[in-house]
Amino acid sequence: MKDSTLKTRRTKQREIILDILRSTNLHPTADWIYEKVRQKMPNISLGTVYRNLKILRDMGELIELDCGGAFSRFDANIRPHYHFTCQICGKIIDIEEPVHHEIEEAIAHKTGFEIAYYCMGFFGKCGRCKEAPAA
Ligand SMILES: [Zn+2]
Ligand SMILES: [Zn+2]
Repeated sequence: MKDSTLKTRRTKQREIILDILRSTNLHPTADWIYEKVRQKMPNISLGTVYRNLKILRDMGELIELDCGGAFSRFDANIRPHYHFTCQICGKIIDIEEPVHHEIEEAIAHKTGFEIAYYCMGFFGKCGRCKEAPAA
């Protein structure tokens, strides 16, 4: 499913999904997106939302964050970037540091594997949780 007709065929469903994802910086799960889409398109199914998320990902319109967590999360910020996860409140925050592609190149060179992406996460306390007194 990676032909050029895919790029030009933008359905209403995909427009809505992208609008919703672009309006948040929460890095939501498919379930969260589904709940929002359903408010605009009551008849849409979770499967359809899921399928469109995968198509949008393949089109390069969004990033699927799959860092070994239980659920994939989705991000409309398609520039390569890192993520910080707060271990207290669970918030995922974009880190706009330059991504070090030489790591991928080094691993590809060493192993001969074709590397699609790598995932480096930062974990700790966000600004708000750092200030909050321990409950
Ligand atoms: Zn926090
Ligand atoms: Zn992000």
